[in-house]
Amino acid sequence: MDRERKKPPDSLFEVAVMAALPHPLTYRFPASLPVSPGQRVLVPLATRKAMGIVLGPASKLAPGIEVRDALRALDPEPALPAELVRLGIWISDYYLAPPGEVFRAMLPLRQETRRARQVRLTEEGRSKLQELTASQPEESDQDAALLAYLDRRPDASFEILQSKFPDACRRALEQKWMSIEEVNKGRSRRQVFAVRLAGPLPEHLPRLSPVAKRIIEALEHQGPAEDHRPLLVAVRAQLANLRKLGEAGLIALSEAGWRGASSGLRERDAPATAGETPAPQLTCAQTAVLADLFPRLDSGSFGVVLLHGVTGSGKTEIYLHLIAHCLERGRSAIMLVPEIALTPAMQSLFFSRFGDKVALLHSGLTERERDDAWWRVRHGQAKVVLGTRSAVFAPVVNLGVVIVDEEHDSSYKQDETPRYHGRDVAVVRAQYAGALALLGSATPSLESYWNAREGKYQLLKLEDRIGGRKLASVDVVDMRQEFRETHTQMPLSRKLKEEIDAQLRASAQTMLLLNRRGYSWFLLCRSCGETQRCVNCSVSLTYHRREHRLSCHYCGYSMAVPALCPACGSEYLHYVGEGTEKIEHKFAELFPGARVARLDRDVARRRGEFLRVLQDFRQGKIDVLVGTQLIAKGHDFPGVTLVGVVSADIGLGLPDFRAAERTFQLVTQVAGRAGRGDAPGRVLVQTFYPEHYAIRLAADQNYAGFFSKEMGFRRMMHYPPITALANIVAQHPKLERAAQVAEMIGKFFTKVESQFPAIKVLGPGPAPLAKVERRYRIQFLLKSNSRANLHALLKQLVQHATQSGIQPRDVMIDVDPVKLM
Ligand SMILES: [Zn+2]
Ligand SMILES: [Zn+2]
Repeated sequence: MDRERKKPPDSLFEVAVMAALPHPLTYRFPASLPVSPGQRVLVPLATRKAMGIVLGPASKLAPGIEVRDALRALDPEPALPAELVRLGIWISDYYLAPPGEVFRAMLPLRQETRRARQVRLTEEGRSKLQELTASQPEESDQDAALLAYLDRRPDASFEILQSKFPDACRRALEQKWMSIEEVNKGRSRRQVFAVRLAGPLPEHLPRLSPVAKRIIEALEHQGPAEDHRPLLVAVRAQLANLRKLGEAGLIALSEAGWRGASSGLRERDAPATAGETPAPQLTCAQTAVLADLFPRLDSGSFGVVLLHGVTGSGKTEIYLHLIAHCLERGRSAIMLVPEIALTPAMQSLFFSRFGDKVALLHSGLTERERDDAWWRVRHGQAKVVLGTRSAVFAPVVNLGVVIVDEEHDSSYKQDETPRYHGRDVAVVRAQYAGALALLGSATPSLESYWNAREGKYQLLKLEDRIGGRKLASVDVVDMRQEFRETHTQMPLSRKLKEEIDAQLRASAQTMLLLNRRGYSWFLLCRSCGETQRCVNCSVSLTYHRREHRLSCHYCGYSMAVPALCPACGSEYLHYVGEGTEKIEHKFAELFPGARVARLDRDVARRRGEFLRVLQDFRQGKIDVLVGTQLIAKGHDFPGVTLVGVVSADIGLGLPDFRAAERTFQLVTQVAGRAGRGDAPGRVLVQTFYPEHYAIRLAADQNYAGFFSKEMGFRRMMHYPPITALANIVAQHPKLERAAQVAEMIGKFFTKVESQFPAIKVLGPGPAPLAKVERRYRIQFLLKSNSRANLHALLKQLVQHATQSGIQPRDVMIDVDPVKLM
């Protein structure tokens, strides 16, 4: 009863509630509910219950404000370490994103509550129990009751204990009398048994059920089973049947280990190659770069290095050595790649070097696999994380290095709330952890290269391909001239056709890049000029031949191909433009007998087919691979000696200040796929703008030239990295409401104009995509020489919008936008 009197006072904490609220909320936590930052809790929100993350102690509230009591803790210990709580608060502030939505993105998909937490007695607990038993406690002593209960039920669940002995539970955790272990409920982690006959079968078998007979027969004829699961499938039996036969002494079961989701994943994703790729000899240039990186890592202080290495210069080996060094020092590593599904080779490399220390985190995993990997990382079992954008939130213990491969890639920017940039968050994460951030690319983003030039980042270079291989030679084909001479508009120029023909005759491999998937760009009526447009978005639908449907690449809407024009009834419907599917299809006509395959997002959706195409191409079973930018990313196909860029121009005409940068990166990257083996590579770039600097300098693979030319343009037009940029879009299913919201925002900007003279507001105007997913969009673009000013203005905007009753989803704020569409 003494304990009651020493009861500590209730405390107030700020909680990021999983809802679209602009700020954290304050809740009271009764003394019986002790929490710490990073812990998940259940709180009341209006009339419902919501999950939240405890951020930290709340400051004193103004009198008269009602504070509600939190309901309960969902985790016994914080799900997020302090470092990630801090990172989440930074993201919410910097990107003006609702804190709850930021933390939702950081946490595993599944709720901890759906997992079982097994509680066990510790050594301390056992001696405490003995002590209490010896002193013959009163029957009401909760501590003794709890410990005795645990002693009887070694795998008790935490939820049950907490409901039975709430106070004693808390004390037992504080005093470390018991420990909690995360286990997966369900099938994700199962024990595997080896099964064999216990001995020679007795002459007179006891009466057996048909199932038992089948089991005995199978073991008799096929011998012992190393894994009981295929056996069960084969004889249509349950584990219980095996156990029963075991008890009867007819068969013997022995534990053969655990097979969980994590190892299943490895078996699936890292086939055969594990262990068969010894680390290659490092080149002088690689050794020099590592000699620079190791001391930085060892110093234990924050720093950012930009590694600018031409395609094929061996950046991956630098990453692997750095991670190995990190592990030797007892620290962890995170490596981000743009699209993990595209780089099975990278996954194999990681597993073969680091074995079960690796955890994969990406959207291609099932919820359970992802969740499993997340907790393995959180508990320090996995120290190397390989993943896409959101892997930057991996809860690794003692982070040493975070690597961002292909740091220029636009898929690092999330295009829904929270609109964070994975690369930039990686840098902040490294800063909070006192770790090294390594950004690598053959075509660094202007932002990163600018930071290196300004001395914020250190620049390291790999200027030659390994093995003394030459960069591929690039020729530009002027498609205007081609049209003048042939008077036909063909996707493949005569020169490209000739070269492909020569490749086929020489049994050499070719890649064709066309940055447009589907069959045709759109369906045009030749009678009335109408195109089939998406019902939800202001874009034309793309024709997909395989499904024989028209579909929208923005919202996924699709419709059957009409036989007659819906507008005028004409039958003269015409497919305009070429997509990857059409090139693949036409190929058979142009080059009979050639083995051609396609790789784009439509194929990538079918995981098995995708991996098969990659593997077949690598093994030389495919002559020509047609694809979108997906084929330009990081692949290493030694057999490819010709790369054709069917149209380098798609994108150059878009109303986006990054159009030239993207075109330069794409052409340089795809050119980098040629000549990675022993034979030299060639690249043909077809374009209607042969004199455009992005095309010209990409053909010369002249990054420095492109950087200075493009920086001149950015400086003149006041675009990043010279200025800070934010994109504000008023959006609503009703055009009038979108216009109304835009007007309110416009008025606000005019009102605060004098306060922020250095900020330039462009707009309002219809966004380049004036309607997406049934929402009309009206855009403002903010440019500022001072990031601090821009941030202050946006904070005021959020406050103003909330006060004016504008719903958070009706105003999109995109800080450092990557796409302005
Ligand atoms: Zn028509
Ligand atoms: Zn659409």
